[in-house]
Amino acid sequence: MKFKVDKDTCIGCGACEAICDEVFEITDDGYAVAKDEKITDDEVKEKAISAMEGCPTEAIHEETKEA
Ligand code: SF4
Repeated sequence: MKFKVDKDTCIGCGACEAICDEVFEITDDGYAVAKDEKITDDEVKEKAISAMEGCPTEAIHEETKEA
């Protein structure tokens, strides 16, 4: 499982990082990015999904294509 943040939609509110900083971080440009690595830990997955569902602009998407 992997996530992707749509930079055009993200408003940089920081909620995703607050919920799951294992996956999401706010970069120097003020917007969130998702770490480009597959998430294997179930607890982290749950938090990342909560962050995705909690994003106010729905900027977070699950990457369906597993790399
Ligand atoms: S919760 Fe959504 S809008 Fe807020 S920083 Fe994260 S991706 Fe951007």
